[in-house]
Amino acid sequence: MVSRKPLVAGNWKMNFDHIEATYFVQKLAWILRDAHFSYRNCEVMLMPPFTSIRSVQVLIESDRLKLSYGAQYVSVTNQGAFTGDVSADMLAALGCSYVLVGHSERRKYHPEDDANIVDQVRAVLAAGMKPILCVGESFEERRQGIELEYAVGQVHDVTRDLSDQQASELVIAYEPVWAIGSGMVATPQIAQQAASAIRSHLRSEYDDNVADRVRILYGGSVNPSNASELMASGRDIDGFLVGGAALDAEQFATIARLT
Ligand code: PEP
Repeated sequence: MVSRKPLVAGNWKMNFDHIEATYFVQKLAWILRDAHFSYRNCEVMLMPPFTSIRSVQVLIESDRLKLSYGAQYVSVTNQGAFTGDVSADMLAALGCSYVLVGHSERRKYHPEDDANIVDQVRAVLAAGMKPILCVGESFEERRQGIELEYAVGQVHDVTRDLSDQQASELVIAYEPVWAIGSGMVATPQIAQQAASAIRSHLRSEYDDNVADRVRILYGGSVNPSNASELMASGRDIDGFLVGGAALDAEQFATIARLT
Protein backbone atom coordinates (compact mmCIF):
# COMPACT_ATOMS: atom_id res chain seq x y z
CA MET A 1 0.00 0.00 0.00
CA VAL A 2 1.45 3.39 -1.06
CA SER A 3 1.35 6.11 1.58
CA ARG A 4 0.03 9.45 0.40
CA LYS A 5 1.37 12.73 1.73
CA PRO A 6 -1.61 14.97 2.55
CA LEU A 7 -1.89 18.24 0.64
CA VAL A 8 -3.43 21.50 1.79
CA ALA A 9 -3.89 23.77 -1.21
CA GLY A 10 -4.92 27.41 -0.95
CA ASN A 11 -6.90 28.80 -3.88
CA TRP A 12 -6.65 32.57 -3.62
CA LYS A 13 -8.98 33.07 -6.60
CA MET A 14 -8.85 36.73 -7.75
CA ASN A 15 -7.52 38.09 -4.48
CA PHE A 16 -4.24 39.76 -3.38
CA ASP A 17 -2.00 41.89 -5.56
CA HIS A 18 1.70 40.98 -5.54
CA ILE A 19 2.46 43.14 -2.50
CA GLU A 20 -0.34 41.58 -0.46
CA ALA A 21 0.80 38.16 -1.69
CA THR A 22 4.32 38.81 -0.43
CA TYR A 23 3.02 39.90 2.95
CA PHE A 24 0.82 36.80 3.18
CA VAL A 25 3.66 34.38 2.38
CA GLN A 26 5.95 36.06 4.91
CA LYS A 27 3.29 35.79 7.59
CA LEU A 28 2.48 32.17 6.72
CA ALA A 29 6.17 31.23 6.75
CA TRP A 30 6.61 32.89 10.13
CA ILE A 31 3.69 30.90 11.60
CA LEU A 32 4.80 27.62 10.05
CA ARG A 33 8.39 28.11 11.28
CA ASP A 34 7.29 28.29 14.89
CA ALA A 35 8.83 25.31 16.64
CA HIS A 36 5.55 24.49 18.33
CA PHE A 37 3.66 24.45 15.09
CA SER A 38 3.84 21.02 13.57
CA TYR A 39 2.62 20.53 10.03
CA ARG A 40 5.39 18.21 8.91
CA ASN A 41 2.99 15.56 7.72
CA CYS A 42 1.50 17.62 4.97
CA GLU A 43 2.47 19.58 1.89
CA VAL A 44 1.27 23.18 1.97
CA MET A 45 0.57 24.81 -1.37
CA LEU A 46 -0.58 28.21 -2.64
CA MET A 47 -2.30 29.13 -5.88
CA PRO A 48 -2.02 32.89 -6.37
CA PRO A 49 -3.37 34.80 -9.36
CA PHE A 50 -0.90 34.84 -12.30
CA THR A 51 0.28 38.34 -11.36
CA SER A 52 1.62 37.20 -7.97
CA ILE A 53 3.24 33.89 -8.90
CA ARG A 54 6.66 35.43 -9.56
CA SER A 55 6.68 37.30 -6.23
CA VAL A 56 5.67 34.12 -4.39
CA GLN A 57 8.36 32.14 -6.22
CA VAL A 58 11.14 34.61 -5.36
CA LEU A 59 10.19 34.61 -1.70
CA ILE A 60 9.90 30.83 -1.43
CA GLU A 61 13.20 30.26 -3.22
CA SER A 62 15.21 32.96 -1.49
CA ASP A 63 14.03 31.97 1.99
CA ARG A 64 14.00 28.23 1.18
CA LEU A 65 10.45 27.95 2.45
CA LYS A 66 8.82 24.53 2.48
CA LEU A 67 5.85 25.68 0.44
CA SER A 68 4.69 24.58 -2.99
CA TYR A 69 2.82 26.80 -5.39
CA GLY A 70 0.84 26.61 -8.58
CA ALA A 71 -1.67 28.35 -10.82
CA GLN A 72 -5.45 28.46 -11.04
CA TYR A 73 -5.79 27.98 -14.77
CA VAL A 74 -3.73 27.18 -17.87
CA SER A 75 -4.15 27.67 -21.59
CA VAL A 76 -4.43 24.53 -23.71
CA THR A 77 -2.10 25.98 -26.35
CA ASN A 78 1.60 26.38 -25.91
CA GLN A 79 2.38 29.67 -27.60
CA GLY A 80 1.26 32.06 -30.27
CA ALA A 81 -1.53 34.53 -30.97
CA PHE A 82 -3.74 33.77 -27.96
CA THR A 83 -4.16 37.13 -26.28
CA GLY A 84 -4.47 36.94 -22.52
CA ASP A 85 -3.50 33.27 -22.23
CA VAL A 86 -0.68 31.77 -20.17
CA SER A 87 0.89 28.47 -21.21
CA ALA A 88 1.86 25.44 -19.14
CA ASP A 89 5.52 25.89 -20.09
CA MET A 90 5.43 29.48 -18.79
CA LEU A 91 4.03 28.24 -15.48
CA ALA A 92 6.56 25.42 -15.25
CA ALA A 93 9.34 27.94 -15.92
CA LEU A 94 8.09 29.89 -12.88
CA GLY A 95 8.54 26.77 -10.75
CA CYS A 96 4.84 25.92 -10.44
CA SER A 97 4.23 22.33 -9.36
CA TYR A 98 0.44 22.27 -9.71
CA VAL A 99 -2.35 23.76 -11.80
CA LEU A 100 -6.00 23.79 -10.81
CA VAL A 101 -8.16 22.43 -13.62
CA GLY A 102 -11.91 22.51 -13.97
CA HIS A 103 -12.78 24.57 -10.89
CA SER A 104 -16.55 25.09 -10.82
CA GLU A 105 -16.10 28.87 -11.06
CA ARG A 106 -14.14 28.43 -14.30
CA ARG A 107 -16.72 25.95 -15.61
CA LYS A 108 -19.44 28.50 -14.80
CA TYR A 109 -17.93 31.83 -15.87
CA HIS A 110 -15.82 30.67 -18.82
CA PRO A 111 -16.58 28.31 -21.63
CA GLU A 112 -14.68 25.37 -20.14
CA ASP A 113 -16.23 22.05 -21.08
CA ASP A 114 -14.88 18.54 -20.56
CA ALA A 115 -12.94 18.60 -23.85
CA ASN A 116 -11.15 21.77 -22.83
CA ILE A 117 -10.51 20.39 -19.34
CA VAL A 118 -8.99 17.21 -20.82
CA ASP A 119 -6.67 19.39 -22.91
CA GLN A 120 -5.68 21.43 -19.84
CA VAL A 121 -4.86 18.23 -17.95
CA ARG A 122 -2.69 17.05 -20.84
CA ALA A 123 -0.94 20.42 -21.12
CA VAL A 124 -0.15 20.44 -17.39
CA LEU A 125 1.19 16.87 -17.47
CA ALA A 126 3.26 17.52 -20.61
CA ALA A 127 4.94 20.44 -18.83
CA GLY A 128 5.86 18.22 -15.87
CA MET A 129 3.34 19.64 -13.38
CA LYS A 130 0.43 18.00 -11.57
CA PRO A 131 -3.18 18.85 -12.41
CA ILE A 132 -5.62 19.29 -9.53
CA LEU A 133 -8.85 18.23 -11.18
CA CYS A 134 -11.95 19.67 -9.51
CA VAL A 135 -15.21 17.72 -9.62
CA GLY A 136 -18.42 17.83 -7.63
CA GLU A 137 -22.16 18.00 -7.90
CA SER A 138 -24.44 21.01 -7.66
CA PHE A 139 -27.32 21.11 -5.23
CA GLU A 140 -29.65 19.91 -7.99
CA GLU A 141 -27.77 16.64 -8.59
CA ARG A 142 -27.70 16.04 -4.85
CA ARG A 143 -31.44 16.65 -4.64
CA GLN A 144 -31.94 14.06 -7.35
CA GLY A 145 -29.73 11.58 -5.49
CA ILE A 146 -27.24 11.27 -8.37
CA GLU A 147 -24.33 13.09 -6.72
CA LEU A 148 -21.89 10.18 -6.70
CA GLU A 149 -22.58 9.19 -10.31
CA TYR A 150 -22.17 12.83 -11.28
CA ALA A 151 -18.81 13.40 -9.56
CA VAL A 152 -17.42 10.02 -10.64
CA GLY A 153 -18.71 10.68 -14.17
CA GLN A 154 -16.77 13.96 -14.27
CA VAL A 155 -13.61 12.11 -13.25
CA HIS A 156 -14.27 9.44 -15.86
CA ASP A 157 -14.92 11.93 -18.67
CA VAL A 158 -11.63 13.71 -18.08
CA THR A 159 -9.35 10.79 -17.25
CA ARG A 160 -10.57 7.98 -19.48
CA ASP A 161 -7.84 8.35 -22.12
CA LEU A 162 -4.94 8.90 -19.74
CA SER A 163 -2.24 6.27 -19.34
CA ASP A 164 -1.62 4.74 -15.91
CA GLN A 165 1.49 6.89 -15.61
CA GLN A 166 -0.43 10.10 -16.42
CA ALA A 167 -3.34 9.23 -14.13
CA SER A 168 -0.99 8.56 -11.22
CA GLU A 169 0.17 12.22 -11.38
CA LEU A 170 -3.34 13.57 -10.76
CA VAL A 171 -4.72 15.18 -7.66
CA ILE A 172 -8.53 15.14 -7.55
CA ALA A 173 -10.48 17.69 -5.53
CA TYR A 174 -14.02 16.68 -4.63
CA GLU A 175 -15.75 20.04 -4.28
CA PRO A 176 -19.55 19.94 -4.09
CA VAL A 177 -20.58 23.19 -5.76
CA TRP A 178 -23.15 23.92 -3.06
CA ALA A 179 -20.39 23.91 -0.43
CA ILE A 180 -18.01 26.34 -2.18
CA GLY A 181 -17.94 29.72 -0.49
CA SER A 182 -21.35 29.06 1.08
CA GLY A 183 -20.40 28.14 4.63
CA MET A 184 -22.31 24.85 4.08
CA VAL A 185 -19.52 22.35 4.53
CA ALA A 186 -20.18 18.73 3.52
CA THR A 187 -20.50 16.32 6.41
CA PRO A 188 -17.46 14.08 6.92
CA GLN A 189 -19.61 11.15 5.74
CA ILE A 190 -20.54 12.90 2.49
CA ALA A 191 -16.90 13.84 1.82
CA GLN A 192 -15.59 10.34 2.57
CA GLN A 193 -18.32 8.65 0.53
CA ALA A 194 -17.50 10.73 -2.54
CA ALA A 195 -13.73 10.29 -2.12
CA SER A 196 -14.19 6.55 -1.73
CA ALA A 197 -16.40 6.37 -4.86
CA ILE A 198 -13.77 8.29 -6.85
CA ARG A 199 -10.97 6.02 -5.61
CA SER A 200 -13.00 2.89 -6.42
CA HIS A 201 -13.53 4.24 -9.91
CA LEU A 202 -9.77 4.77 -10.33
CA ARG A 203 -9.19 1.21 -9.09
CA SER A 204 -11.57 -0.16 -11.68
CA GLU A 205 -10.04 1.85 -14.54
CA TYR A 206 -6.35 1.72 -13.63
CA ASP A 207 -4.02 -0.49 -11.65
CA ASP A 208 -3.91 -0.47 -7.85
CA ASN A 209 -0.83 1.70 -7.85
CA VAL A 210 -2.77 4.55 -9.52
CA ALA A 211 -5.75 4.23 -7.19
CA ASP A 212 -3.45 4.18 -4.16
CA ARG A 213 -1.25 7.08 -5.30
CA VAL A 214 -3.79 9.69 -6.40
CA ARG A 215 -4.51 12.20 -3.66
CA ILE A 216 -8.15 13.11 -3.22
CA LEU A 217 -8.87 16.43 -1.53
CA TYR A 218 -12.09 17.75 -0.13
CA GLY A 219 -13.00 21.39 -0.86
CA GLY A 220 -15.95 23.54 0.17
CA SER A 221 -16.08 25.85 3.20
CA VAL A 222 -13.18 24.16 5.00
CA ASN A 223 -12.03 26.12 8.03
CA PRO A 224 -10.10 25.48 11.28
CA SER A 225 -13.22 24.27 13.07
CA ASN A 226 -14.21 21.55 10.62
CA ALA A 227 -10.83 20.38 9.22
CA SER A 228 -10.03 17.74 11.88
CA GLU A 229 -13.39 16.07 11.66
CA LEU A 230 -13.27 15.98 7.87
CA MET A 231 -9.75 14.58 7.93
CA ALA A 232 -10.77 11.87 10.40
CA SER A 233 -13.76 10.82 8.32
CA GLY A 234 -12.04 8.00 6.52
CA ARG A 235 -8.95 6.92 4.69
CA ASP A 236 -9.76 8.36 1.27
CA ILE A 237 -9.41 12.07 2.02
CA ASP A 238 -5.84 13.26 1.62
CA GLY A 239 -6.19 16.93 2.45
CA PHE A 240 -8.08 20.03 1.40
CA LEU A 241 -8.60 22.61 -1.29
CA VAL A 242 -9.28 25.80 0.63
CA GLY A 243 -10.74 29.05 -0.73
CA GLY A 244 -11.95 31.67 1.75
CA ALA A 245 -9.88 30.42 4.70
CA ALA A 246 -6.75 30.42 2.52
CA LEU A 247 -6.85 34.24 2.54
CA ASP A 248 -6.09 34.31 6.25
CA ALA A 249 -2.57 33.06 7.05
CA GLU A 250 -3.48 31.96 10.58
CA GLN A 251 -6.57 30.06 9.52
CA PHE A 252 -4.76 28.46 6.60
CA ALA A 253 -1.82 27.42 8.78
CA THR A 254 -4.18 25.98 11.37
CA ILE A 255 -5.90 23.88 8.69
CA ALA A 256 -2.44 22.59 7.67
CA ARG A 257 -1.67 21.71 11.27
CA LEU A 258 -4.94 19.80 11.62
CA THR A 259 -4.43 17.84 8.38
C1 PEP B 1 -12.71 26.78 -3.62
O1 PEP B 1 -12.90 27.84 -4.20
O2 PEP B 1 -12.09 25.88 -4.19
C2 PEP B 1 -13.21 26.63 -2.26
C3 PEP B 1 -13.18 25.45 -1.73
O3 PEP B 1 -13.68 27.76 -1.64
P1 PEP B 1 -14.18 27.87 -0.11
O4 PEP B 1 -13.16 27.19 0.75
O5 PEP B 1 -14.26 29.33 0.13
O6 PEP B 1 -15.50 27.17 -0.04
